[in-house]
Amino acid sequence: MTSLLELTETQRAAVHHAVEVIRQEIEPIAAQLDDRDEFPEATIRGLAQHDLLAVPLPPVYGGAGHDFVTYLSVLEEMAKASCSIAATVDAHTTMVSLPILRFGEKQQRERYLRRLASGEVLGAFAVTEPDVGSDIAGIATTAVRDGDRYILNGAKALIANANHADLFVVAAKTAPDRGMLGISVFVIEKGTPGFRPSGERKRTLGMRATDLGGLVFEDASVRRENLLGRENFGFKILHETLVADRAATASIALGVAEAAQKHSVAYAKKREQFGKPIAQFESIKRLLADMEVSISAARLLAREAARVLESGSDATRIASIAKLFASEMATRVTKDAIQIHGGWGYTRDYPVERFFRDAKYSELVDGTSEIQRLLIADEIIKRRT
Ligand SMILES: Cc1cc2nc3c(=O)[nH]c(=O)nc-3n(C[C@H](O)[C@H](O)[C@H](O)COP(=O)(O)OP(=O)(O)OC[C@H]3O[C@@H](n4cnc5c(N)ncnc54)[C@H](O)[C@@H]3O)c2cc1C
Repeated sequence: MTSLLELTETQRAAVHHAVEVIRQEIEPIAAQLDDRDEFPEATIRGLAQHDLLAVPLPPVYGGAGHDFVTYLSVLEEMAKASCSIAATVDAHTTMVSLPILRFGEKQQRERYLRRLASGEVLGAFAVTEPDVGSDIAGIATTAVRDGDRYILNGAKALIANANHADLFVVAAKTAPDRGMLGISVFVIEKGTPGFRPSGERKRTLGMRATDLGGLVFEDASVRRENLLGRENFGFKILHETLVADRAATASIALGVAEAAQKHSVAYAKKREQFGKPIAQFESIKRLLADMEVSISAARLLAREAARVLESGSDATRIASIAKLFASEMATRVTKDAIQIHGGWGYTRDYPVERFFRDAKYSELVDGTSEIQRLLIADEIIKRRT
C-alpha cells in the first residue's frame, strides 16, 4: 500500500519546480521583507511567470492544472521560506481564483481567471469587518438591489492584499434579516465608484510582508454581473472557500514548523555548552522529538485534507481538524525552536523568532481555534445522532 505522503512523479516534479523558484525568488528576501514591513508586490506578481499564482487552475485559464495535493505542498514549501508570501498567494488563489472557477458564470471565469493566473490582477477575499469576525452571519455590509445594479455600503477590516489587490471577492448582506442565508458574494474590481481601500496598512506581530488593510464601500455601485453565484447563495460559497482555505492554512502552518525544526536541529548539533553539542542533552532531545512527532501528525492530517478536497467529498471535518492541529502545533514548535536557540533565538540573528511571530497567524484566520473546535464538535454531534 502506498503511503498517504507519497507523491506521484508529476506531483513531485511540480513541487520540485516550485522549490527551485522559492529558493531563487523568495528565500533570499524573506528576512529583509519582514524587517522592513515590506509587501513584495513585484515578486508576488512575478511568481505568475512560474505558474505559482495558479497552481490548481486549469490550463484553459492559464493555470498549471495541478491537483490540491500538489498545490498545498507548494504552499507548504513556500511557507518554509516566507509565511507571508505563502499566505498572500493562498488568499489570491484559494479565496479568489478558486471560488470564481467553482461558482462563477462562464463570462466571469473568462473575464477574470486568466488575469488572476498571469498576475495582471491580484485578488483579495473580504468577509471580516471592524465589528464582525467569527460571527460571519452578523456582517453589516449591505448590498441593496437597484434595477440591474447593487449598491454596497459598509466596511471590511483585516483583509490580506487590501491595498494592492485589483479584484475583491466580497461578502455582503442582500437579506439582512436572514443571517447566513441573507449573504451574497460579489466580485468587485478596483476603481469601482464608491469602493476603495481604507488606505491604512496594519502593523502586525508577524506576517509583516503581508498587506493587511481595510476596505470602504460608500454607495459603491456594481452590476448584477458582479454577483458570484445566486443572490443569498453566499453561505455555500463562503463555506466551501473557507473549508479549502483551512486545508491551505494547515499546510502553511506545517511549512513554517518544518522550517523551525530544520533550523533547530542544525543549531542543536552545532551549539556546544558544557563541552558538548546541546543536541546531546536530554531536554533538548525531548523538544526535538516532540517537534518530530507533532509535525509528522500534522503532515498526515494536512495531506488527508488535501486528498479529500481533491476527491470532491465533504472536507469540512478534516479541514478543520488539520487546520486546528497544524496551527497550534506550529505555534508550539516555533516557540520551542526559540528555546533551543536560547537567548540567540530571541534575536533577529536567527529566523526562528520570525517563524514564531508568523506561525501565530494560523490560529486566527479562517475561523480561530475556538471556532474550529465548535465546527469539529458540531460534525461529531451530527454524525452520532
Ligand atoms: C494575518 C491575518 C490575515 C487575515 N486575512 C483575512 C482576509 O484575507 N479576509 C478576511 O475576511 N479576514 C481576514 N482576517 C481576519 C480573520 O479571519 C479574523 O481575525 C478572524 O475570523 C477572527 O475574527 P476577529 O478577529 O474579529 O475575532 P472575534 O470574532 O472578535 O473573536 C475574539 C475571540 O473570541 C473568540 N470567539 C468568538 N466567537 C466565539 C464562540 N462562539 N465561541 C468561543 N469563542 C469565540 C475567538 O476565538 C477569539 O478568541 C485576517 C486576520 C489576520 C490576523
